[in-house]
Amino acid sequence: MIYKGILNGCSTDIATQAGELNNFISDNLHSEDTVGSTILFYSEKEQRDALIRLVPTESVKLVRITRYQPENILKALTTMEQGEMTHLYLFPSGFAGSEMAVRLAFRMKGSSLVQVKQIEYSGVQLIASKTVYANHVLGTFKLTKKPYCVSLAKGSANDQAINTRDKLIVTEYDMTHLHENQFIKASKAIPRKQASNLTNTRFLLIGGNGMKNKADTQYLKQIADTIGADFGVSRPVAMSGWTSLHRQVGVSGSMTKAAVCIVAGASGAAAFYAGIEKSKFIVAINTDSRAPINKTSDVAIIDDYKAVLDELVKVMREDRPI
Ligand SMILES: Cc1cc2nc3c(=O)[nH]c(=O)nc-3n(C[C@H](O)[C@H](O)[C@H](O)COP(=O)(O)OP(=O)(O)OC[C@H]3O[C@@H](n4cnc5c(N)ncnc54)[C@H](O)[C@@H]3O)c2cc1C
Repeated sequence: MIYKGILNGCSTDIATQAGELNNFISDNLHSEDTVGSTILFYSEKEQRDALIRLVPTESVKLVRITRYQPENILKALTTMEQGEMTHLYLFPSGFAGSEMAVRLAFRMKGSSLVQVKQIEYSGVQLIASKTVYANHVLGTFKLTKKPYCVSLAKGSANDQAINTRDKLIVTEYDMTHLHENQFIKASKAIPRKQASNLTNTRFLLIGGNGMKNKADTQYLKQIADTIGADFGVSRPVAMSGWTSLHRQVGVSGSMTKAAVCIVAGASGAAAFYAGIEKSKFIVAINTDSRAPINKTSDVAIIDDYKAVLDELVKVMREDRPI
């Protein structure tokens, strides 16, 4: 099996992409007859060496572009890969990676699957698994037409160390001329405002729909600031506009792995829980003793979240003035 990972070095989440690719390769592509390399797209010359160090495979193909724009990336890939015997292309998780996987498969007359967790290759077909039905079921899919173009699932099973040995630059392409595009007349990159880095937080306080309104969401955010925690929310809270969408935790938000995660007023639905399940210690506060979160947390407090958190702040103040 010959595979190629594709990384978007123009994006600010390149380290996350590289980590996910590294974990996927370690978990799925370790047999002796597997050969892999990475195609790294980048635009800033000054960042070239730092980006190469993030690459999880030993062989790297470098492609310099003006900006990461899907149509141009597809054009670059189909040009560079013409005549190559690549069986599998691995794109980053998220919407951009999924879009590229599907569009490349169409152009190369292969097959695609997005948000893939695991694969197994038999020589004639690729068996790929992904979660379906809001994360309740692990679905298995058979891909028969090569090349297989897949995007990875968000988050990863293990945090494997990235191979820091010297990388072998197989080829360097300059595709900066590809920026001309008949469909796009002008473009401007507006960096997304990141409320906080929930993925890497150690201490997280999450508020669920039990907060009931914007004022109580702001109250909980203040509690988080007071106790030194990052603040996250469940989907209904983000969707109601009570806080920024970037605070959402779960399959369609941040996947966290905090040392301590306090969940106040969230029921613990599967799509939410997937975003906190890698936390080391989970405390649930919920008025309903039958809420699913109580069964999946290390400590469950059946009470009103305000009463419990006010008491927590009091105890922390007595213990160490904050
Ligand atoms: C494709 C898909 C993707 C999804 N992705 C996500 C996702 O990424 N993240 C996510 O969160 N959801 C996601 N969801 C939605 C998810 O299925 C649940 O609907 C959602 O997580 C419920 O949020 P909640 O627990 O905050 O609200 P609710 O289910 O309304 O629960 C509120 C909880 O608060 C408790 N409560 C009420 N008042 C108090 C109080 N005063 N003190 C303490 N407890 C109180 C209640 O007992 C209840 O358990 C997704 C759904 C789908 C279909």
